[in-house]
Amino acid sequence: MKVQCILCDKIEVINQDSIIAKRLRNRPIHTYMCEECTNRVTEKAQERLAKRKNGDDSTSEEW
Ligand SMILES: [Zn+2]
Repeated sequence: MKVQCILCDKIEVINQDSIIAKRLRNRPIHTYMCEECTNRVTEKAQERLAKRKNGDDSTSEEW
């Protein structure tokens, strides 16, 4: 099954029986993100969370 990444337009072939393929069958194919982009997005999200956490930590240290 061929899928196209929504972020970098890379076309990948995924296993038809995989969880991702099953999910894509219920949703438009455009919701697919390749591993690279998924990692990039999660890294950014985690970075943001980490920064927020660190901010909270420094605030709590002042107390
Ligand atoms: Zn991608």
